[in-house]
Amino acid sequence: MTLTIDLHTHSHVSDGTESPADLVRSAAATGLDVVALTDHDTVRGWDEARAAAKENQIGLVPGIEISCQREGRSIHLLGYLFDPEDVDLLGEIERARESRVTRMDRMVEAMAADGIPISIEEVRAQLAPGATLGRPHLADALVTAGVVPDRAVAFRDYLHNESRYYRGHYAVDPVRGVELVLAAGGVPVIAHPFTVTRGRTLDPAVLDEMIAAGLVGIEAHHRDHTDESVAVALDLARAHDLLVTGSSDYHGTGKPNRLGENRTAPDALERLLGLATGSPALAPRKA
Ligand code: AMP
Ligand code: ZN
Ligand code: FE
Ligand code: FE
Repeated sequence: MTLTIDLHTHSHVSDGTESPADLVRSAAATGLDVVALTDHDTVRGWDEARAAAKENQIGLVPGIEISCQREGRSIHLLGYLFDPEDVDLLGEIERARESRVTRMDRMVEAMAADGIPISIEEVRAQLAPGATLGRPHLADALVTAGVVPDRAVAFRDYLHNESRYYRGHYAVDPVRGVELVLAAGGVPVIAHPFTVTRGRTLDPAVLDEMIAAGLVGIEAHHRDHTDESVAVALDLARAHDLLVTGSSDYHGTGKPNRLGENRTAPDALERLLGLATGSPALAPRKA
């Protein structure tokens, strides 16, 4: 039997809409054999996801999606199976999370100055306890306030990267991100490298630096990739012996992405598991 594996999902501990336990249950109900939880800049969902995975007899790969930045360009780095108590990694994550809070204040202020009726309290009301604050929560607040019908329109009209209301937040350099994940015993995989934001894609020189720093894998199969960019990613993987992942980037009802819509091959997962020393994965039920 071939395992069905999805290595990139978000719960409401960041900006998904389901609790970690519900997400794991959804993954099991969808027929996935292994799911990774990769909330933005936090590991707070790991324990709940692990307990739910045991209960539902589904494999779990605890992970994270680290927001990185180089010269104003945002790069997302997936990290799997690292030590969740690693001080250096936690320090960087915490710094990013704190910066997200002040950044949100500035976005809300900019909107209020233009007469868009939204308060930071309304944004906070969208947040699960301990969750990583992000633009999707601002989007949800705009929906609740009746300014827009859904998240997609909120991003299209107000929250996209070129919007006059967009503000950045502190994010670690991608090479440092790779080093931190490795040092914590984890496996670094670049997320959707060819997503087009602001018409600018990843600088190949930065990717080369990340590879030189020990990047292990590349997320080739992702809904934000065109057929051409999947082919480029697969070429890069061959050239640099990177493991190839595919995943949904599921956010619950917050995005159209469906669990398992892109998947990772079992041999890639096996290689990933073999490299990790920071924390254990939960094996899938026996076939
Ligand atoms: P932030 O990290 O706060 O800058 O927000 C980025 C988050 O917004 C990511 O999780 C994206 O998945 C999400 N996002 C970006 N564009 C959209 C969109 N059009 N609809 C819904 N979510 C989006
Ligand atoms: Zn997200
Ligand atoms: Fe991402
Ligand atoms: Fe993601």
